[in-house]
Amino acid sequence: MSQQIPDADVPGNSTDPSPQTVPPLPEDTRTGPGGIPVLAVEVSRQWARVMTLLRKELGEATYQNWLCFVGCDGIEGGCALLTAPSRFKRDWIRSHLGDQMLKAWNNVNGQVLRLDFHVREAASAPPAANAGESHSSRAPAEARASASQPGSEYPAVGRAGQYGRIGAPLDPRFTFEDFVVGKSNEFAHAAARRIAESDAPPFNPLFLHGGVGLGKTHLMHAIAHAIRARRPERSVLYLSAEKFMYQFIKALRDKDTMPFKEALRSVDVLMVDDVQFIGGKGSTQEEFFHTFNALIDHQKQLVISADRSPSDLDGIEERIRSRLGWGLVADIHPTDYELRLGILQGKAELARRQMPDLDIAESVLEFLAHRISSNVRDVEGALTRVVAFATLVRRPITVDMAREVLQDLLRASERRITIDEIQRKAAEYFNIRLADMLSARRARAVARPRQVAMYLAKQLTARSLPEIGRKFGGRDHTTVIHAVRRIEQLRESDSAMNEDVEKLQRLLQG
Ligand code: ADP
Ligand code: MG
Repeated sequence: MSQQIPDADVPGNSTDPSPQTVPPLPEDTRTGPGGIPVLAVEVSRQWARVMTLLRKELGEATYQNWLCFVGCDGIEGGCALLTAPSRFKRDWIRSHLGDQMLKAWNNVNGQVLRLDFHVREAASAPPAANAGESHSSRAPAEARASASQPGSEYPAVGRAGQYGRIGAPLDPRFTFEDFVVGKSNEFAHAAARRIAESDAPPFNPLFLHGGVGLGKTHLMHAIAHAIRARRPERSVLYLSAEKFMYQFIKALRDKDTMPFKEALRSVDVLMVDDVQFIGGKGSTQEEFFHTFNALIDHQKQLVISADRSPSDLDGIEERIRSRLGWGLVADIHPTDYELRLGILQGKAELARRQMPDLDIAESVLEFLAHRISSNVRDVEGALTRVVAFATLVRRPITVDMAREVLQDLLRASERRITIDEIQRKAAEYFNIRLADMLSARRARAVARPRQVAMYLAKQLTARSLPEIGRKFGGRDHTTVIHAVRRIEQLRESDSAMNEDVEKLQRLLQG
């Protein structure tokens, strides 16, 4: 990943002139049912479009690591009021992504001329314009976690002294009870459970890795919750690598690193989330490594997460990388349909309990599980958005409505159809062997379906012609061009063929 963490800022060091409070929306916009501002619906739509544009332009990693934390409180006098959960995130996002964000706003609403970034008050309501966005679950969670339990905001306990506050808040919803286990995450889940139930480290460290939104943070918080419930005297510290660096650099600037080091080393369980961000900082890496070794030497449990395996962590020194892999490495795979449906059913049940009038048909959950990508965060976000919309316009939730509300998200996930999937479905549909998609056989009975699959790969994925050729048994890109042209012609002249292609396309798009 190219994204590098900048120097962490230190409170009081910011030159930010912007006011800390967000101007209120006009009174009449705040009177919607269930406390959801009505004006927010339009701003929310625009904001969703801005986010979709940015996500496409800046890529998934930047979106998940930074953008998804931004909320929009409204638009006032040509100025979009944006919020971020921390000063660090706000400053980073403003300086690195501000220009692109403004450009995206200009595309969506020409009247937005400026952006105003604020730090979201921990106790304030979730960003209104964001109510239906896929990333919204984060912000309220952070806000709730710190607002509802002010005394226990930082889970490092007791002995850590002033550095007791170096941890990050735990999300109360991220428990083992709320974690749905499926094929893709059962190993990671079992490993996490083992740690939560053991008094001595069963393996050290536990290194959890997997793509964004697949439940790494959820599992780490679940470990912390479980240990706190079972053995409250044990000190468990959870923090993000970003926070680790921030704290360490702050201690360095204050020329006072001892308490920080001692605080870290005095815990029984240390969990550091998203360590891919530790890359590139000599001194923080060094400190991380020493802490890591000291804890392992003292039989303290370490849990580390990253979006990739230890060996793929670039920017991290070789000796650290290899040491990270010494314990148990557990990866979380992308979810499958069953797991997504299970998660959606759980979330829908929760929503129904909170809003007894809510009417979510099972077919809607199936539709979402089928159509939204393998990332759980997106799946949850889609449901949140559909529910928010239904509550606002007071309509029952149907598949058609979900399709309408999620247009942009669905389009994004359509692009994620893979060539493997196309080959599988086409082979099934035309009743030929999957191996024949790649084979050199030229009999019409296999060659035609293969051409259809190549054509669909061109239409439904973003892969280049040479890439497609390679996936079809190492064929040349000119073969792919030929297939695409041939099927285009046939679709014109042969209605049965046209129907086959359309049916397959629908099958693939859900
Ligand atoms: P990661 O840290 O891997 O990026 P998170 O742990 O933040 O992902 O998960 C993203 C969202 O998906 C969270 O709201 C989390 O509760 C939810 N989630 C992920 N996996 C599961 C699961 N197996 N069961 C229930 N919820 C899940
Ligand atoms: Mg995470």
